[in-house]
Amino acid sequence: MTELALEIGAGGIAAVRVADDVEDDDIRRIEVPPQQVWQSCEQLLREVADGGEVTSLAIACAGPIDMGAGIVAPAGVPQWRAGFDIVAAAQAAFPGAIVQLALDGVALVLAERTLGAMQGVPDALAVSLSERIVGGLAVGGFAVVGRTGNAGNIGHMLVPGCDEPCLCGGRGCLDAVGGGLALCRWARAQGWRGGSVAELAHAAAAGDQVAVAAAGRAGVALGRGIVSAAALLDIDLVVVGGELATAGRALWNPLGETVAEHARLSYLPGLRVVPSPLRGIAVLAGAGVMAHAAVA
Ligand SMILES: [Zn+2]
Repeated sequence: MTELALEIGAGGIAAVRVADDVEDDDIRRIEVPPQQVWQSCEQLLREVADGGEVTSLAIACAGPIDMGAGIVAPAGVPQWRAGFDIVAAAQAAFPGAIVQLALDGVALVLAERTLGAMQGVPDALAVSLSERIVGGLAVGGFAVVGRTGNAGNIGHMLVPGCDEPCLCGGRGCLDAVGGGLALCRWARAQGWRGGSVAELAHAAAAGDQVAVAAAGRAGVALGRGIVSAAALLDIDLVVVGGELATAGRALWNPLGETVAEHARLSYLPGLRVVPSPLRGIAVLAGAGVMAHAAVA
């Protein structure tokens, strides 16, 4: 039995063969190519399958998706902007496999609930801060999928007082203010000379003034989004992972202060915002959880 997990997001494409003990070296990653995106995904999957007969394949994809139709149109994959029938393509490539598709945020929740910081917590929000902001929800003990599969997409909650244009076509979305790509753009406009989100997080942790300010922007914007979500959904735990979560106090102090300042309702003072123990692999791990559950 060969179970595979595939992640498609703004930071690239990653694939792994599901196992009890996955090391970083077991994960194959590529950047999103301009063309032949599915062919690249399939090649990556065949590499990690290593000749094994694939019985299960779970795909975690950046939104928006149409889970019922099996179609994805992530903003970070220009070739698929009009929608790509990924489930049909995967089924054709691996006819013996059970193929599943979920939003990356839903995979994030499944990983945190099964392997991470949300174990035993029925009502919680999971957030990943990397190139884009990914979010997923558990309410009443269930991962919330939503009508079309896109529930939990916290990156497109509006941030009060912000008007930055967002890739979704709107303005003032959390992702347009605190997403890693937006922060890198902002930092470069302030004179920062780095390139990637990982570099920005590292620079913030090391005390670079512009990077610290960028992480602070993310912390305040995310804190506002978190309090709004917590007030709406009556959750008591938020797990934050992704590359930017490694920025240290530059992110976590303004985040914590913003949450403390705004979470005043009687049911919110216990709201905990904690780092994810799953490093940067939670979305892929969540796809692995799905792939394994389908055949277990
Ligand atoms: Zn948006």
